[in-house]
Amino acid sequence: MFDLILDNALHKGHRVDVAVQGTRFAALEPAGTLAHAQAKERLDCARRLLRPPFYNTHTHQAMTLLRGIDDDCALMDWLTREIWPREARLTPEAVYAGTRLAILEGLKSGCVAFNDMYFHQPAVLRAAAEMGVRARVGLMYMNQVSDHIENDATLTLRDTLPPTLGLTLAPHALYTTTPDLLRRVAAQADALGLPLHIHAAETAAETAIAKERFGFDTPIAYLDACGILRPGTLLAHCCHATEADLERIAKRGCHVAHCPQSNQKLASGVFPWAKAAAAGVSITIGTDGAASNNALSMIAETKAAALSAKLGAAAPDALRLADLDRAATETAAAALGFPDVGKIQPGAQADFILVNLDTPAFAGGGDPDANFIYAADTAAVDTVACAGRLLLRGGRHPDEPAILAAARAAAHTLLTP
Ligand SMILES: [Zn+2]
Repeated sequence: MFDLILDNALHKGHRVDVAVQGTRFAALEPAGTLAHAQAKERLDCARRLLRPPFYNTHTHQAMTLLRGIDDDCALMDWLTREIWPREARLTPEAVYAGTRLAILEGLKSGCVAFNDMYFHQPAVLRAAAEMGVRARVGLMYMNQVSDHIENDATLTLRDTLPPTLGLTLAPHALYTTTPDLLRRVAAQADALGLPLHIHAAETAAETAIAKERFGFDTPIAYLDACGILRPGTLLAHCCHATEADLERIAKRGCHVAHCPQSNQKLASGVFPWAKAAAAGVSITIGTDGAASNNALSMIAETKAAALSAKLGAAAPDALRLADLDRAATETAAAALGFPDVGKIQPGAQADFILVNLDTPAFAGGGDPDANFIYAADTAAVDTVACAGRLLLRGGRHPDEPAILAAARAAAHTLLTP
């Protein structure tokens, strides 16, 4: 008796039956093979496309509460004038409400995981655990909150987390930290075996700071000298990484979280995807926070990554669909450190989405997977599952009205003077 059977789903151009047992896929067979197998539940997938879900590798989830504030502003002005004063008023309850809203938005775009860097991390972990998604939650360090690196109380949660959740150490960026802070965080990562997550080479201003304040040619060279570039380190943005930087990133076994819509909105720069791929860099895709994107749809973000790569290289074949798809799913899942995640095959973790083919993007023919990335929107996402649990059905989450109401109330407390 299986827990779940998906009957007759369209997957990679073939009709298949898929069985789920516990948290894993138990079978993937030609359609009809499992017609008589027993299951606690079965879904008729005749009009559904079966895909791996998205894994969002760079977020500040609770920034959903700060969306739509001074959208036409340079990064440093926006942070210092609009965002940081309001973030100083964040409570764990507000972060919990904002994170649940972000998780809901992610699920509606077919995303089951996020790599977060924000405040009040226990509240983020609680939201992720309750909503059944995967998360890596970063203990964020900036100069003003760096006293607790070696005895951060949140580290005690580490041994209580389920396999779907984990911690990272997340020094914010080179312009909000000192060399001493970065070296202490790198030593702590060594001691605890935790991965790092940091903003890197996001803007041209950051390159100037690397030169003038720290005496290095590029932010990546500086971060490497501080011990930050290590296997598993997730570098967000890297728009201004040079070819030598990209080779260094690949050699050190780091991953890049490419956030095209945030880069475009803040006019930060264009991540050199084709050059990074040629250098062997592990490239993944992230939305960044909702205040600088401003949406959390991984469908839109993945399409934007393709457009950015093609325009940046002035070549329509600079990024092909199969490579794009892999970056947003399998590579991203591996970059977040989840074993056996990101592929639909027996034995792998049962993370999947079912896309409704009875929506406009799929009526005109063509490759359904291409149509999903390039033409569909969140309205096409029907079902989302993580570790065998169905989290979204019919495009709806059972707690949706309560999540929206709580986020509305939390945002009100931050946005009113
Ligand atoms: Zn960010």
